[in-house]
Amino acid sequence: MSADLPGYAKAQREWEAMEPPDGGVRECSACNGRGDLPDPTDEDADHVQCEACEGFGLLSPDGEPFDPGQAEREAEEYADFKRNQRETEEKP
Ligand SMILES: [Zn+2]
Repeated sequence: MSADLPGYAKAQREWEAMEPPDGGVRECSACNGRGDLPDPTDEDADHVQCEACEGFGLLSPDGEPFDPGQAEREAEEYADFKRNQRETEEKP
């Protein structure tokens, strides 16, 4: 039993080394996290929504636009789900 432990610990270390150090969400490099860019077709320097991050200024680990509000909504939905799950489990 204890002979298995070093291999497991090694696998765990390798797995942890694969994780991105900052959780993955990062500022959009196209607009420096602003969410908009100067319109290249407008000499008055109006700003247009950044296409890379869809105006959120953040990108997910997959390089998709990251909506901080959506993460909050998902956290709420997950909390609801856990609450419902507990209530279901408590019923006889
Ligand atoms: Zn952007």
